[in-house]
Amino acid sequence: MNARPLPPSRDLRLVHVDARDRRSVVALWPNGPSFGGEELAICAGPCAVESREQILATAAAVARAGANVLRGGAYKPRTSPYSFQGLGRDGLALMREAADLHGLAVVTEVLDPRDAEIVAECADMLQIGARNMQNTALLRAVGETGKPILLKRGLAATVDEWLLAAEYIALTGNERIVLCERGVRSFDPSTRNLLDLAVVALLARRTHLPTIVDPSHGTGVAGLVAPMGLAAVAAGAAGIMVEVHPDPASAVSDGMQSLTFAEFDSFMESMPAVAAAVGRSLPKRFAGSLKATPPS
Ligand code: PEP
Ligand code: MN
Repeated sequence: MNARPLPPSRDLRLVHVDARDRRSVVALWPNGPSFGGEELAICAGPCAVESREQILATAAAVARAGANVLRGGAYKPRTSPYSFQGLGRDGLALMREAADLHGLAVVTEVLDPRDAEIVAECADMLQIGARNMQNTALLRAVGETGKPILLKRGLAATVDEWLLAAEYIALTGNERIVLCERGVRSFDPSTRNLLDLAVVALLARRTHLPTIVDPSHGTGVAGLVAPMGLAAVAAGAAGIMVEVHPDPASAVSDGMQSLTFAEFDSFMESMPAVAAAVGRSLPKRFAGSLKATPPS
């Protein structure tokens, strides 16, 4: 039996660490939130946009705590076809409204290549969810919008498979790609997924693209989100993505892993010290000054 690991794919041409002189910094707009620079990107918000009231309250809370990107699903990839599928276009508009009110950027998932343009008109960054990491038609469609892309790791994807998915996007001419570790399937039901933090350091050697970590889907347990989020930053992550909800117990999806506003506040209070230890800082707006909103 050959126990030696497979060599890395030779097809990593555009995203390979040697393809560029320096590490990529992905800015959502000039002087806007960025991934891979000294400032962390803090993406926070509900799993799904549920109502105007919910997204407005959450945007206010996460902005106050220091986030600079509002997350939330308008098109939800649900395991059961009978579960809430998202508010669609109405959800997109509500996210934009909430984000603009608080000087936040918007990241949201695209499920269908036919929606790529519509989502790109509303959002500052398009998310490819774990279930679609290898949907090559979707990868091409989001790449062609020219918008920054957040590419989540597939449910059971190897690093090479993940980077080759990024290569599909890069081949459209759009290299504004950020990778997001969100845990992989494991044998152990103690957590929803097994959060692979080693991959943060490993990817820094394999690709010039920045990596962020989603400890919410990565653990599935609200109490594990803050320690794993801090560990992700210590490991060199360019940012985090965290689910926050006004009332996790009544969330339509992922309530178990969603932080309350108070829990997110205390998580963010412990972040600056960890960030400083690895030469990073919180987004400047953390000091309370709202930055310019995205160009309309
Ligand atoms: C999400 O971030 O809303 C989501 C569905 O996550 P994932 O694709 O990682 O399961
Ligand atoms: Mn979720």
